[in-house]
Amino acid sequence: MRNQQARVFRRSVLMLTVVAMAGLAVLVWTGWLSLGTHSSEEAVSSADESVPAMGVPSELSSEERSLAIDTIFTSQKQMALTFNGLADMETMTSLLHELDKHDIRATFFLPGMRVAEEPDLVEKIVQAGHEIANNTLDQQDMSEWPIADIYEDLRLTNELIEREVGIQPRYVRSRSGDYTDDLRRAAEALGMEAVVGYSINPRDRDGKSAAEIGAYVDRYMRRGAVVLLHTNLNPEIVDAIAYIADAATHKGYSFVPIGQLRENGTVYKPLEEIPGFDAAQMNPDYADRTYTLIESIPNGKKEIAMTFDDWGSEDTINAVLDILDDYDLKCTFFLVGEGVEKNPNLARAILDDGHEIANHTYSHKVVTTLSPKELQEEVVKGHQALTEALQEPPLMIFRPPTGVFDDTAARIIAATGYQMIVNYDVDPMDWDAAHSAEDITNTILEQTVDGSIILLHILDDKHTIEALPNVIEGLQAEGYSFVKVTELMEYMSGNERILEQ
Ligand SMILES: [Zn+2]
Repeated sequence: MRNQQARVFRRSVLMLTVVAMAGLAVLVWTGWLSLGTHSSEEAVSSADESVPAMGVPSELSSEERSLAIDTIFTSQKQMALTFNGLADMETMTSLLHELDKHDIRATFFLPGMRVAEEPDLVEKIVQAGHEIANNTLDQQDMSEWPIADIYEDLRLTNELIEREVGIQPRYVRSRSGDYTDDLRRAAEALGMEAVVGYSINPRDRDGKSAAEIGAYVDRYMRRGAVVLLHTNLNPEIVDAIAYIADAATHKGYSFVPIGQLRENGTVYKPLEEIPGFDAAQMNPDYADRTYTLIESIPNGKKEIAMTFDDWGSEDTINAVLDILDDYDLKCTFFLVGEGVEKNPNLARAILDDGHEIANHTYSHKVVTTLSPKELQEEVVKGHQALTEALQEPPLMIFRPPTGVFDDTAARIIAATGYQMIVNYDVDPMDWDAAHSAEDITNTILEQTVDGSIILLHILDDKHTIEALPNVIEGLQAEGYSFVKVTELMEYMSGNERILEQ
């Protein structure tokens, strides 16, 4: 059986020393001086007998697992371009040239056996500033292997890489990019930082053209993404680099090695370790709760707040953030937990840009259609999703989906800890794509007064982005200035337009 042979091969490999000379690997069996007279059967039985003597390494007795990374936790517009495998000298030279031309530093996951065969080529990769990582000895499918065999495979690969180029790999990836708990335990036992998967797989292995590979990366580009490519399966990969680099430059992203991407990112804290994660709680005792409803806060200074609701794609939200940055405006975002969970890096990017974030439920259900328990779950789950993504709690301010609520719902919400409900007095209905940029702009300019709170959305495929510059310039021309909702709230006390219940 193939698998059996492969496993026997791994065990034999434990006793291998690989010496590479002039690109030619010479394998020397240590301990078997009569190499060549042994049949493979004899080698097999010798290797099998030696296993109980060595036993399972004591490091493997721990259940601890290394990190597993598919996306790096960063709010910066950076991604990792990663390659599995080591192609021939000619392909690699072209690839390195392309990467250098586009100022991309990548991460190369190299099979240990190929490193031993071509140390000069690996040295070239290192010299070009790329990161070297472990791609197992020779990319076998390890998913069914005993953990001791996985451990030895990774250990030997690390050893080969260190011997040839003096680098201790911090990361490992399997042949497919998938990983098991045993792979993570083996990586942990070896003191490696993480098992790395991927978040963007353009499937270059399926014979895609350079343009197709580039278009795929362009479409799914996002903060912290790990792009999976192969050096040795499809020659189109060399020409794909220009497409990928141009798309990234156009959208303002750069590629850095995984280690650097992680250093530039945020250390992720689990929800329970973030102060304020439990500020919202289920609470059946809501009948006598009070709440505050705000729809606008006039202060005589023509200050207004622009607010953005819901969730959208990386491209849509980037476009909104870019416009707000161009006009140096800070706004208030009411985010849906379920969306934020899918792209926490983007949620943190909103915060990092100086905007503030509040709770708009977990899954955008109209609150008056829910039982008290369901409604509180929506609020609490939304709070937790935002807290985990942002690594800090959102504002304790709630906006009901579609703006609809009643007195009972407001009390139920308040009982969770969200006593402040912020709606709006200007609604251009930009969530409806039937409303053009001009419609949106005109409605806002007609409805806005001192202290207004304007409702907009960060949904995909609407006319909001197109309208925004005209909205901002039109309101500024009328003497309005933009502040965040919490800044408007500083004028609340004694104001008759605040509905105290
Ligand atoms: Zn909404």
